[in-house]
Amino acid sequence: MRTAIYPGSFDPFTNGHLDVVQRAAKLFDRVIVAVAKNESKHPLFTLEERVELVSKSVSRIKNVRADSFDCLLVNYVKRCNARAVVRGLRAVSDFEFEFQLALMNRKLNGEFETIFMMPKDTYTFLSSRIVKEIARLGGNVHQFVPPPVRVALRRKLRETTD
Ligand code: ADP
Repeated sequence: MRTAIYPGSFDPFTNGHLDVVQRAAKLFDRVIVAVAKNESKHPLFTLEERVELVSKSVSRIKNVRADSFDCLLVNYVKRCNARAVVRGLRAVSDFEFEFQLALMNRKLNGEFETIFMMPKDTYTFLSSRIVKEIARLGGNVHQFVPPPVRVALRRKLRETTD
Protein backbone atom coordinates (compact mmCIF):
# COMPACT_ATOMS: atom_id res chain seq x y z
CA MET A 1 0.00 0.00 0.00
CA ARG A 2 1.70 3.21 -1.16
CA THR A 3 0.51 6.08 0.99
CA ALA A 4 1.21 9.78 0.47
CA ILE A 5 0.52 12.58 2.90
CA TYR A 6 -0.51 15.99 1.57
CA PRO A 7 -0.02 18.34 4.53
CA GLY A 8 -1.05 21.98 4.78
CA SER A 9 -3.13 24.57 6.58
CA PHE A 10 -5.99 24.36 4.05
CA ASP A 11 -7.60 27.53 5.45
CA PRO A 12 -9.61 26.93 3.35
CA PHE A 13 -9.14 24.12 0.79
CA THR A 14 -9.08 25.57 -2.76
CA ASN A 15 -9.36 24.22 -6.30
CA GLY A 16 -5.56 24.46 -6.48
CA HIS A 17 -5.26 22.05 -3.55
CA LEU A 18 -7.89 19.82 -5.17
CA ASP A 19 -5.90 19.77 -8.41
CA VAL A 20 -2.79 18.57 -6.52
CA VAL A 21 -4.85 15.92 -4.69
CA GLN A 22 -6.28 14.58 -7.97
CA ARG A 23 -2.79 14.25 -9.42
CA ALA A 24 -1.42 12.54 -6.31
CA ALA A 25 -4.38 10.13 -6.18
CA LYS A 26 -3.31 8.75 -9.57
CA LEU A 27 0.20 7.99 -8.32
CA PHE A 28 -0.52 6.52 -4.88
CA ASP A 29 -2.85 3.84 -3.51
CA ARG A 30 -3.91 6.16 -0.73
CA VAL A 31 -3.62 9.91 -0.19
CA ILE A 32 -4.24 11.51 3.19
CA VAL A 33 -4.87 15.24 3.15
CA ALA A 34 -3.49 16.15 6.56
CA VAL A 35 -4.67 19.44 8.00
CA ALA A 36 -2.12 21.03 10.31
CA LYS A 37 -3.49 22.67 13.43
CA ASN A 38 -1.24 25.73 12.92
CA GLU A 39 -2.80 27.94 15.61
CA SER A 40 0.07 30.41 15.20
CA LYS A 41 -1.30 31.28 11.73
CA HIS A 42 -4.64 32.31 13.33
CA PRO A 43 -6.75 30.38 10.83
CA LEU A 44 -10.21 31.65 9.84
CA PHE A 45 -11.66 28.13 10.08
CA THR A 46 -11.22 25.84 13.08
CA LEU A 47 -9.28 22.62 12.65
CA GLU A 48 -12.52 20.60 12.66
CA GLU A 49 -14.09 22.88 10.04
CA ARG A 50 -11.03 22.65 7.78
CA VAL A 51 -10.99 18.85 8.01
CA GLU A 52 -14.71 18.68 7.25
CA LEU A 53 -14.33 20.96 4.24
CA VAL A 54 -11.46 18.87 2.85
CA SER A 55 -13.47 15.72 3.49
CA LYS A 56 -16.54 17.03 1.63
CA SER A 57 -14.39 18.38 -1.22
CA VAL A 58 -12.60 15.07 -1.87
CA SER A 59 -15.55 12.76 -1.19
CA ARG A 60 -15.75 11.64 -4.83
CA ILE A 61 -12.13 10.49 -4.98
CA LYS A 62 -12.13 6.97 -3.58
CA ASN A 63 -8.53 6.71 -2.35
CA VAL A 64 -8.36 10.11 -0.64
CA ARG A 65 -9.34 11.00 2.90
CA ALA A 66 -8.92 13.90 5.29
CA ASP A 67 -7.23 13.86 8.67
CA SER A 68 -5.56 16.33 11.04
CA PHE A 69 -2.30 16.42 12.93
CA ASP A 70 -0.76 18.50 15.67
CA CYS A 71 2.76 17.12 15.89
CA LEU A 72 5.95 17.15 13.89
CA LEU A 73 5.10 16.21 10.29
CA VAL A 74 7.81 13.53 10.16
CA ASN A 75 6.25 11.77 13.16
CA TYR A 76 2.81 11.87 11.57
CA VAL A 77 4.23 10.47 8.31
CA LYS A 78 5.84 7.61 10.21
CA ARG A 79 2.63 6.86 12.10
CA CYS A 80 0.74 6.58 8.78
CA ASN A 81 3.43 4.37 7.29
CA ALA A 82 3.63 6.76 4.34
CA ARG A 83 6.34 6.81 1.67
CA ALA A 84 5.92 10.32 0.46
CA VAL A 85 4.87 13.82 1.36
CA VAL A 86 3.24 15.79 -1.43
CA ARG A 87 3.53 19.57 -1.65
CA GLY A 88 2.33 21.96 -4.34
CA LEU A 89 4.58 24.34 -6.23
CA ARG A 90 2.88 27.29 -7.86
CA ALA A 91 5.76 29.55 -8.74
CA VAL A 92 9.40 30.22 -8.04
CA SER A 93 8.27 32.16 -4.97
CA ASP A 94 7.13 28.88 -3.33
CA PHE A 95 10.42 27.17 -4.07
CA GLU A 96 12.76 28.51 -1.43
CA PHE A 97 10.53 27.74 1.53
CA GLU A 98 9.45 24.35 0.18
CA PHE A 99 13.05 23.37 -0.57
CA GLN A 100 14.12 24.26 2.96
CA LEU A 101 11.18 22.37 4.47
CA ALA A 102 11.83 19.25 2.37
CA LEU A 103 15.50 19.13 3.24
CA MET A 104 14.82 19.71 6.93
CA ASN A 105 12.25 16.90 6.93
CA ARG A 106 14.81 14.65 5.26
CA LYS A 107 17.30 15.46 8.02
CA LEU A 108 14.69 14.58 10.63
CA ASN A 109 13.63 11.38 8.89
CA GLY A 110 15.29 10.14 5.72
CA GLU A 111 12.78 7.36 5.11
CA PHE A 112 10.31 9.24 2.94
CA GLU A 113 10.51 11.52 -0.08
CA THR A 114 8.93 14.91 -0.65
CA ILE A 115 7.27 15.13 -4.04
CA PHE A 116 6.33 18.42 -5.66
CA MET A 117 3.37 18.73 -7.96
CA MET A 118 2.50 21.66 -10.20
CA PRO A 119 -1.20 22.48 -10.51
CA LYS A 120 -2.96 23.27 -13.76
CA ASP A 121 -1.71 26.70 -14.90
CA THR A 122 -5.04 28.40 -14.16
CA TYR A 123 -4.50 27.65 -10.45
CA THR A 124 -0.96 28.94 -10.14
CA PHE A 125 -2.16 32.34 -8.91
CA LEU A 126 -4.54 30.83 -6.37
CA SER A 127 -3.96 30.82 -2.61
CA SER A 128 -6.17 30.42 0.46
CA ARG A 129 -5.15 33.91 1.53
CA ILE A 130 -6.34 35.52 -1.73
CA VAL A 131 -9.59 33.56 -1.66
CA LYS A 132 -10.31 34.81 1.88
CA GLU A 133 -9.51 38.36 0.84
CA ILE A 134 -11.86 38.23 -2.17
CA ALA A 135 -14.65 36.70 -0.08
CA ARG A 136 -14.19 39.29 2.67
CA LEU A 137 -14.53 42.09 0.16
CA GLY A 138 -17.73 40.59 -1.23
CA GLY A 139 -16.28 39.04 -4.39
CA ASN A 140 -17.47 35.78 -5.93
CA VAL A 141 -15.10 32.88 -5.26
CA HIS A 142 -17.08 30.11 -6.96
CA GLN A 143 -14.43 29.44 -9.62
CA PHE A 144 -11.67 29.15 -7.02
CA VAL A 145 -13.02 26.79 -4.35
CA PRO A 146 -15.14 23.62 -4.18
CA PRO A 147 -18.88 24.30 -3.50
CA PRO A 148 -18.82 23.29 0.22
CA VAL A 149 -16.01 25.82 0.81
CA ARG A 150 -17.94 28.58 -0.97
CA VAL A 151 -20.95 27.99 1.31
CA ALA A 152 -18.78 27.80 4.45
CA LEU A 153 -16.94 31.02 3.56
CA ARG A 154 -20.18 32.89 3.15
CA ARG A 155 -21.47 31.59 6.49
CA LYS A 156 -18.21 32.24 8.34
CA LEU A 157 -17.85 35.80 7.09
CA ARG A 158 -21.46 36.52 8.03
CA GLU A 159 -20.72 35.21 11.56
CA THR A 160 -17.60 37.31 11.93
CA THR A 161 -19.25 40.54 10.76
CA ASP A 162 -22.40 40.07 12.90
P1 ADP B 1 0.89 25.76 4.27
O1 ADP B 1 0.50 26.66 5.40
O2 ADP B 1 1.49 24.46 4.72
O3 ADP B 1 1.67 26.41 3.18
P2 ADP B 1 -1.37 25.74 2.44
O4 ADP B 1 -2.73 25.23 2.74
O5 ADP B 1 -1.23 27.18 2.12
O6 ADP B 1 -0.51 25.31 3.69
O7 ADP B 1 -0.72 24.92 1.25
C1 ADP B 1 -0.50 23.54 1.33
C2 ADP B 1 0.33 23.10 0.13
O8 ADP B 1 -0.40 23.31 -1.06
C3 ADP B 1 1.64 23.87 -0.04
O9 ADP B 1 2.60 22.99 -0.57
C4 ADP B 1 1.29 24.93 -1.07
O10 ADP B 1 2.42 25.33 -1.81
C5 ADP B 1 0.31 24.16 -1.93
N1 ADP B 1 -0.65 25.03 -2.61
C6 ADP B 1 -1.34 26.05 -2.12
N2 ADP B 1 -2.12 26.62 -3.05
C7 ADP B 1 -1.88 25.92 -4.20
C8 ADP B 1 -2.33 26.03 -5.55
N3 ADP B 1 -3.16 26.98 -5.94
N4 ADP B 1 -1.86 25.13 -6.44
C9 ADP B 1 -0.99 24.19 -6.05
N5 ADP B 1 -0.50 24.03 -4.83
C10 ADP B 1 -0.94 24.89 -3.90
